[in-house]
This record gives sequence, structure tokens and C-alpha cells, in this order.
Amino acid sequence: MAEYKCGLCGREFRKEEALTACVSCPFHKGCKLIKCPNCGYEFPREPGWLKKLLGRGEKNAKRKS
Ligand SMILES: [Zn+2]
Repeated sequence: MAEYKCGLCGREFRKEEALTACVSCPFHKGCKLIKCPNCGYEFPREPGWLKKLLGRGEKNAKRKS
């Protein structure tokens, strides 16, 4: 189940994947950014608009786990 969606390439991924991608973060482990494992795009964790977008998408797709 994808928790995040990359705003650049549209790739959906889980928090674990984002954290794994961030181990090479130049600052320190566990920074506040989510990093797309596909294209490397970094963005803030759970922005409001993204949450809304994902919520709406799940409703439309009727995808329930
Ligand atoms: Zn991406």
C-alpha cells in the first residue's frame, strides 16, 4: 500500500522505501524529506494537498485493503 506519491514522476511508494532512499542524505539520517526511490525527487512529508489528492484517488478507485 503506497503512502506517498512522487509529485514529479508519479511513482507511488511506501515510507520504508523513502527512508531507504534517504540513507545517502548529505545531512543526516531521518531528515524531514521524503525521497522518491524512482527519480530521487525530494519533498516534504505528507503535505496537505497530497493527502487530499491521495484520499480522493482512493475513493475513486474504490481500492480497499
Ligand atoms: Zn519520483
